[in-house]
Amino acid sequence: MSIFNELGIDEETQKISEETCKRLTKRFEEIDRIAEYNQLKVLKAMQECNVSEACLLGTTGYGYNDIGRDTLENVYAHTFHTEAALVRAQITCGTHALALALMSNLRPGDELLSPVGKPYDTLEEVIGIRPSKGSLAEYGVTYSQVDLLDDSEFDYDGIKKAINERTKLVTIQRSKGYQTRKTLSVERIGELIAFVKGINPNIICMVDNCYGEFTEKIEPSDVGADMVVGSLIKNPGGGLAPIGGYIVGKKECIENAAYRLTSPGLGKEVGASLGILKDLYQGFFLAPTVTASALKGAIFAANLFEDAGYDVIPDSTESRHDIIQAIRFGNANKLIAFCKGIQSAAPVDSFVTPEPWDMPGYDSQVIMAAGTFVSGSSIELSADGPLKPPYAVYFQGGLTWPHVKFGIMKAFQAVKDCDKM
Ligand SMILES: *Cc1c(COP(=O)(O)O)cnc(C)c1O
Repeated sequence: MSIFNELGIDEETQKISEETCKRLTKRFEEIDRIAEYNQLKVLKAMQECNVSEACLLGTTGYGYNDIGRDTLENVYAHTFHTEAALVRAQITCGTHALALALMSNLRPGDELLSPVGKPYDTLEEVIGIRPSKGSLAEYGVTYSQVDLLDDSEFDYDGIKKAINERTKLVTIQRSKGYQTRKTLSVERIGELIAFVKGINPNIICMVDNCYGEFTEKIEPSDVGADMVVGSLIKNPGGGLAPIGGYIVGKKECIENAAYRLTSPGLGKEVGASLGILKDLYQGFFLAPTVTASALKGAIFAANLFEDAGYDVIPDSTESRHDIIQAIRFGNANKLIAFCKGIQSAAPVDSFVTPEPWDMPGYDSQVIMAAGTFVSGSSIELSADGPLKPPYAVYFQGGLTWPHVKFGIMKAFQAVKDCDKM
């Protein structure tokens, strides 16, 4: 009996999985090449910034002269090729990083424009699309939105019309998040930024980079973005960062963000790093290969489930610009089975059974699977889906390729067993 059998995978699933992997050799090689490039990009940044053993220690209290924190920010700036960076434990999550970037660079009377349709759910309250305490709307910052055309094309005419003398900042979300549009490649983001700058070069172009880091050789800051924003419990934390967010970009934008995060006058000078710097450095160092594992898993799953007759987004052959994979099951039982399969493959809490629940802010029940070392970390293998048509599961992450492969085999087995019942 193989170790796969011992862990509950039948012969048929093993055979199909191996065949699928064989077919993907070429694509996996391409991903490995991107990972190799990004690994060296990060290494080069660390060497250029003279990361030393002392940088791995932290500070407490005010955190004045925190050499490790300041050097880490320099490493991020070198990697993303930007003038400056803000990388902090005090930025609590991706939404916080995005809210900070927006609120610190917009003033009353300014307008924010999203030229790529509705932003990520949690940003609706930040902007005030859904009323919330402390939203940009409460401070007199208005919002306008131009949706993507069919097939995810930019509506250039609409964008041109939407830009006015009050337009101060344009927000571009790279990942599709939980929508069905295509994820934007960095190249396409560059085209959009060039178009906006062509109309008014003073407009700040910000990119929500969540889930996109290291999936390509270039980042949005290489194609003209003034600010690039993300979460450390996604790709750039490499699974080791226990908390944090980052903003990289123009010096002026980062200074605004730092003064807003701490206080006018204090900016980047305060903010103790406590004891987490070693994990932030090591996680960033591992992030290119961790992201590659997650990408391989997404492509493996797309192929496995597409062959089995399911609708998958992106499909089995599409190019990848983020690590999210969606599978439409069209039926609640299979969605639940998939999530149970992922949970049962986890290194932590594998014995727990995920159940659909009424999550605040959602109009249907949601099921989630995550047996992660860092709570809620979605660079680790995780899945979730709302219990409503089309009963799609969204999954992402996986710290190592063998683990993400096994997790998907478990989920595939669970869906198959559910078919037989
Ligand atoms: C995850 C995510 C966010 C928000 O990050 P949190 O850490 O969950 O607050 C914002 N935008 C996109 C595209 C994301 O994927």
